[in-house]
Amino acid sequence: MTDNRFLKVLKDAEEKKIAVGAVNIFNYLTADAAIQAAKELGVNLILQTSAGTVEHFGAEKLYAMIDAARKDAGIIVSIHLDHCRSIELGKACVDAGWDSVMMDFSHLPLEENIANTKEVADYAHAKGVAIEGEIGIISGVEEEISASDEVKAGYDETMTFIKGSDVDAIAPAIGTAHGVYHGVPKLDFDLVEQLGKEDTPVVIHGGSGLSAETFIKLIKLGGRKVNISTIVKNAYLDTTRELVESGEKYAPIPFDTKVFEAVKDVVKKHLAVFSGLKDEF
Ligand SMILES: [Zn+2]
Repeated sequence: MTDNRFLKVLKDAEEKKIAVGAVNIFNYLTADAAIQAAKELGVNLILQTSAGTVEHFGAEKLYAMIDAARKDAGIIVSIHLDHCRSIELGKACVDAGWDSVMMDFSHLPLEENIANTKEVADYAHAKGVAIEGEIGIISGVEEEISASDEVKAGYDETMTFIKGSDVDAIAPAIGTAHGVYHGVPKLDFDLVEQLGKEDTPVVIHGGSGLSAETFIKLIKLGGRKVNISTIVKNAYLDTTRELVESGEKYAPIPFDTKVFEAVKDVVKKHLAVFSGLKDEF
């Protein structure tokens, strides 16, 4: 497991007291743009794919595509599966070459969450692949998974989950939400601080739309991986729509070039804050 990229970037983040950005990508352009952003800053990166994206491309084709994008990047680029509720799909990504998988059985009772996560953890670890787990439900919509109300899990329950499931990173329910925030979210900074003192790296989900100040506080308390998804999708789609409506020459390559720049910009702004290079977007 010492060569595992996911563990390496998290260890590096812990040593530097920063967070590694985990960017949801859904095609070659977004993977390439995120890598370019990280390269320009000289920071490591996690590229994550939703279960839906894996199903769309097929695990082996998707892996080959992202793996090609990270060749000669000069930084560590780790490939991660985000929120997976299918044991079968999680194992398929382990077999296809993913560096890590996140299994999300947070909607199940604690015992079942532990048992299901542990099954994939054992399978993954035997093949040198790392695993992230979730406890307490992070509200909002993340592709095909949605939850209306966050279910809290405190420090003791979270530690029981970590020990029982053997995960390498933990996504606790701290009050962040997937999608776009309506108003300022109330976050459980105390829980991040308590978990930040433990050995298992803390993952912050629902990063899109939080202020730079909030990110900096969460990272200071121990957040070591920060996920961004919605802002990447919005940069991609909003720029595409603007171009289509702009009356500019209707040609794919110039459009793609501008979409690439828009995605790269939004990712770069966030990575700069996560890695402590800037204190505002
Ligand atoms: Zn999430």
